[in-house]
Amino acid sequence: DARRAGHHRVAIHTEESAARRLARQTQERALRKAIESNALALHFQPKVDLRTGAVIGAEALVRWHLEGTGDIPPAQFIPLAEECGLIQRIGEITLEKAFAALTAWMATGRPPVPVSINVSAVQLDGRLLAAKLRDLLRSNMVPPELIEIEVTETAFAHDMEGAIAELQAVRAMGVRIALDDFGTGYATLSLLQRLPVDTLKIDRSFVSEMIDTRSSEEIVRMVIALARALGKDLVAEGVETVEQSRRLVELGCEAGQGWLYARAMPFDVLMAFIEKSHSTEPGRVQSNMPLA
Ligand code: C2E
Ligand code: MG
Ligand code: MG
Ligand code: MG
Repeated sequence: DARRAGHHRVAIHTEESAARRLARQTQERALRKAIESNALALHFQPKVDLRTGAVIGAEALVRWHLEGTGDIPPAQFIPLAEECGLIQRIGEITLEKAFAALTAWMATGRPPVPVSINVSAVQLDGRLLAAKLRDLLRSNMVPPELIEIEVTETAFAHDMEGAIAELQAVRAMGVRIALDDFGTGYATLSLLQRLPVDTLKIDRSFVSEMIDTRSSEEIVRMVIALARALGKDLVAEGVETVEQSRRLVELGCEAGQGWLYARAMPFDVLMAFIEKSHSTEPGRVQSNMPLA
């Protein structure tokens, strides 16, 4: 009968959550081990001038390769790390690795490349970001303007004033701030006006639909106008086709990143990629470079 069926469902549900809990605990242990054994890597996706394909920066993206399992996407383990308190340590690791990469790059004497680093809302809550950045800027020869911190609108959801204060402290050091996945959160125009933000990153969902869907193109147009009105820089995320790239330039967005140009790659591969991008004549759009 219905009650029995209901009871049965509850039993299954409980079993499933137990299995999920176990899987989570296993993954949490594996993540701890990965952190201890320095198994997390930082890869870099080039950011390009959409008109020429020249590299104008790079976004650092954390990578976890679990032996015997394969690559675990950050969309899976970052939320886990946020829940189990490992995100602070991961945040420190990514900042340290990004500074190490920039320091190595500067030692070659080549023109410097700005690097963007993603920061979780939980890291802002802990108020440790500015302090960590201050340490790293002191102990490395990296000019602050080469560092950009990427936050999403969710960073302002719990403690908006606290997050704004922390980012203001970061920005006061000369580090830049980008608002990631812009348009997918709940940021109102009046909030946006108050945020200490230098760059708006147009979310991939709008870019991927802008050619076929009128409303997505209108949103992209609006974000570009908004950035102009507020004096913010713009970067389009997830540029996958030449049509998207051309349309973005026509609408007034001249910086972007996406698989049309390159996926995230290890730092030594990025260095070679940049060399090549500079030796290419301007005007030629590079695409589908060999992947790492
Ligand atoms: P995000 O910061 O918006 O990063 C962009 C994501 O889109 C990256 O996925 C990137 O590999 C992917 N992507 C770039 N170009 C294209 C494209 O043309 N097409 C498609 N389909 N995807 C593209 P990834 O590396 O899996 O990272 C996912 C999210 O995980 C990031 O979104 C970011 O929110 C978070 N994340 C990554 N690394 C870190 C980190 O070091 N710390 C923190 N807190 N979060 C990170
Ligand atoms: Mg990002
Ligand atoms: Mg993004
Ligand atoms: Mg995005």
